[in-house]
Amino acid sequence: HITDALFHHAVDQSAIAISITDARATVLYVNRAFCAITGYAAEEVVGRNQSLLSYKSTPKTVYQELWQALTDGRSWTGRLLNRRKDGSPYVAELTVTPLSAQGEGEPHYLGMHWDATDEH
Ligand code: FAD
Repeated sequence: HITDALFHHAVDQSAIAISITDARATVLYVNRAFCAITGYAAEEVVGRNQSLLSYKSTPKTVYQELWQALTDGRSWTGRLLNRRKDGSPYVAELTVTPLSAQGEGEPHYLGMHWDATDEH
């Protein structure tokens, strides 16, 4: 059977970069693949906004679609140009999913991405 420890270990060891944020996209958790892909240590990103990964060249309308989906309670999948800690760009194939608030409170969000730079 699945334990909380095994479940946490599976998420932490996933080959896909995983992050969990609050309703304002402030990072609460990142897994190992997130750190490997972005070059940031977990303690460098926890407490900061996910926008620290933006290369600032993806059109605003793409982020607006992402946020429209999230605030409508839907998942969104798309490609963004991201920036690693060392400044180098990569193409992120990203799926964001709202984690609906249980009862009261604001939603959290789940982000899952991988480096799609070599895909065409
Ligand atoms: P922002 O100021 O964030 O805004 C761009 C537009 O998005 C705004 O005009 C507004 O319409 C809308 N918006 C922003 N925040 C909110 C909000 N809290 N509620 C409603 N609408 C809002 N971005 C990346 O570039 N790379 C990633 O890998 C990435 N992963 C993400 C993972 C998760 C789980 C979440 C929730 C978000 C992620 N984002 C990612 C989006 C990120 O939070 C920023 O919105 C984005 O990077 C644009 O940043 P900005 O500072 O240029 O613009």
